[in-house]
Amino acid sequence: MAIESMNNQSNFETVVGLEIHIQLKTASKLFAPDPNIFGQEPNQNVSFITTGYPGVLPKINKAAVEMAMKMGLATNCAISPHCYFDRKNYSYPDLPKGFQTTQDNLPICTKGWLHIELEGQTKKIQINRIHMEEDAGKSIHDQHPTMSEIDLNRAGTPLLELVTEPDIRSGEEARTFVAAIRQIAQYIEVSDGNMQEGSLRCDANVSIRLKGSTELNNRVEIKNLNSLRNIKRAIEYEAANQKKQMQQGQTVQQQTKGFDAKTGTTFVQRSKEMAFDYRYFPEPDLMPIEIKEAWLNDIKEKMPQLPEAVQKELQSQYQLNEYHAKVISAEKDMVTYFKKVAALNLNFKAIANWLSGSIKSYLNENNVAIQNLPLSPQKLANIIKSVDENILTNNAASKKLLPALLNDDNLTVDYAIKSLNLRQSSNAGDIEQIIDTVLQDNPDKVAAFKKGRKGLHGFFVGSVMKKMKTANPALVNKLLTEKLNQ
Ligand code: ADP
Ligand code: MG
Repeated sequence: MAIESMNNQSNFETVVGLEIHIQLKTASKLFAPDPNIFGQEPNQNVSFITTGYPGVLPKINKAAVEMAMKMGLATNCAISPHCYFDRKNYSYPDLPKGFQTTQDNLPICTKGWLHIELEGQTKKIQINRIHMEEDAGKSIHDQHPTMSEIDLNRAGTPLLELVTEPDIRSGEEARTFVAAIRQIAQYIEVSDGNMQEGSLRCDANVSIRLKGSTELNNRVEIKNLNSLRNIKRAIEYEAANQKKQMQQGQTVQQQTKGFDAKTGTTFVQRSKEMAFDYRYFPEPDLMPIEIKEAWLNDIKEKMPQLPEAVQKELQSQYQLNEYHAKVISAEKDMVTYFKKVAALNLNFKAIANWLSGSIKSYLNENNVAIQNLPLSPQKLANIIKSVDENILTNNAASKKLLPALLNDDNLTVDYAIKSLNLRQSSNAGDIEQIIDTVLQDNPDKVAAFKKGRKGLHGFFVGSVMKKMKTANPALVNKLLTEKLNQ
């Protein structure tokens, strides 16, 4: 590589391939009847099949296979008519069987792709494969003063591992791709996609090269990234780090690293020399999986709508603009909420405004999911109705009424409007009195208006509204026009 081109940071490009683990929300584990639930007391959901007692026979969970098929269909993959499981052998305290049952040579889904959108541009990211595998248990190091403990509840729970081609070129692209995968997984109901709880985690393989080059250089694999933000941060840090190394004439080592979210840096976990030999071989205790045309067609027919289709539906059936349709379809539960309100109030545009404005801000600021919003669809429908009937102004509704209702979910909309004194006045006599005061206080402006400075109309409306916050703005406007043109 020429030294001059290496000295210029912008001559480098970042190359990223992702391995995304998606925990499936089946009722039971991948090969055992143990319940697949998060947050239990340690070692509650662990049968002899999960611990791999001699003589036990695992059995494939059909629901997990169907979820894998759905994920493959949703990401434009080919579904293998024939596939099987392999044993990946290694020894670790949280792996009771001494091997992980996974798919190596023949995964259930291959060769897919997904479009992502970045700054208005569409980019195609290719998917190498999606395979099924079981999760391991968990080592706990911070409970006992001198010992590590093992919780096997998670052992044997079903995962999909989705592996992309190295098509991703920045931390932001990676973040966008994982967000899209998470959204799809939620829409087709295969995973809750909860990254804090570890239902969706991601390993990022990062290398750099000179722009225009097609070679793949040594890569660093950053393990177990558990938030969208950390995926972006870890890749950006690691790519900058590799660029520095290259500029200093060092070669990037093939390594496995972790990410420290507190400092925003990556640290080495193991280097290539310590790579395992997993001695893969086909799992002898499980039958191969045959996916016949009829089964696949049945799954295709039962596929729920994907995010893109829902966005289009919001635009065509509810006349929402593209922006509103995008914000609302970003989360399936937001769509559900929207439709519930839309069944009660036909002012779809106002519903979209509320959801993408004040309500979204509330959810973000308080880190609350829409399904836990302390405001029923019925109440939002009532708020919008009250504004449309000129009972209160939009401003009073969003600044005063909404916070009060969110603060106390026993309040009714009517009661809150009354007790907070938000009812706007449509009493022409009261409003006229205020108008008269404003006009008397500003004789020079009235004269200027009469000489043709019609722009002052806004000043008069504003002054009246300031003095009488509950005045109906439309009526203020009408009465002012009458008075000024007398
Ligand atoms: P392994 O089986 O050793 O994990 P794979 O070939 O399956 O390796 O690749 C794992 C992931 O690493 C894939 O997402 C792939 O796109 C990505 N990857 C492979 N080579 C590179 C590279 N040089 N730079 C960045 N990502 C890479
Ligand atoms: Mg790998």
